[in-house]
Amino acid sequence: MSSTNSSTFRTPSPSPYDELDSVGNLSIAQAPETSMEEVRGFFRGMSNTAILRYGLGFDLPDAPALAKDTVVIVMDCEKFEHEPRCLTEFGLHTFTRKEMATALSNPGPHGENLLRQVWYYHIRLLETAHYVNRTFCPGNPEKNHFGNTRFTTDQQAKDFLTESFSWPINNVPGAGKCPVILLGHAVDNDVDMLRELGVDPSVISNVVAIIDTQKIARTQGVHGRGDKIGLQALMEHYDVDFRDGHTAGNDAAYTMIGALQMVMKTELRDNTTRSLQEIVNDLEVFSKGFHPDIGIANHCTRCGRKDHNRTECYGRIERCKKCLKANKTAAAYTHITKLCTR
Ligand SMILES: [Zn+2]
Ligand SMILES: [Zn+2]
Repeated sequence: MSSTNSSTFRTPSPSPYDELDSVGNLSIAQAPETSMEEVRGFFRGMSNTAILRYGLGFDLPDAPALAKDTVVIVMDCEKFEHEPRCLTEFGLHTFTRKEMATALSNPGPHGENLLRQVWYYHIRLLETAHYVNRTFCPGNPEKNHFGNTRFTTDQQAKDFLTESFSWPINNVPGAGKCPVILLGHAVDNDVDMLRELGVDPSVISNVVAIIDTQKIARTQGVHGRGDKIGLQALMEHYDVDFRDGHTAGNDAAYTMIGALQMVMKTELRDNTTRSLQEIVNDLEVFSKGFHPDIGIANHCTRCGRKDHNRTECYGRIERCKKCLKANKTAAAYTHITKLCTR
């Protein structure tokens, strides 16, 4: 089945994704690849903590050969909180088990060396980037702290996701896909995002486990105010500022940082004078050294030009006709008509 045809783009495909959902529940899953099914069976019944520890490179004696090539993908996505409730951005941070395993013997303070093995991507969709949440869950995607933001078309985003989930074993084209562990915070929403972007279900047939920081927190005794810990409370637990949260690149990074602290609490027991906050501050700078070759670097959600971002937009712009008509005179100066969310 192909979803490249524009008429099928963004069309949900409920039944194959229901199959994927069953992976999250660690129940029956039917994947076409026998060896991938073996890896899935290996993770089935293991705790989320144990699965992530394996993904980080800790060995387990009875692991099937293919499991050693596992890739971990940490994801977060944001949607506009009002109609049209469209997907606006996602963070995708990823690492291979093999590369991470090389750093495991010397994780550094609070796992700094491990956090530096992760590739940090923040993707905003050109079509919808101007739909910024300001009401219930305000986030500012102009303030991404991890990696460098790229703006893409829906098709480029879909291609990027497809590629991210299809790493060839040992980087040899045609050698088959690496198994993928998907990690998120309230991860079900992120699985929905893949569906919404029209990513073909066959692309993610190699997802062998879906794990969640909320589940890890519960078993590791890290509690927030409610039943399911929020990402902000998780960061507070580790004395890390939840700086510019509710934007996808930052939330995915906080998910990774929090998950790492929880599942390696024994190994990372504080033996340093540097705080985790200092490690995170340095990680922000470090991650900006990587410039992914996807989409474009600039898109102004105020004037629509592609040579600067909104924070650098000071010129006069045509006032938004929709806002003027609605008597929102001040708002009318903040964007052109084409970029109105009204
Ligand atoms: Zn501008
Ligand atoms: Zn407007």
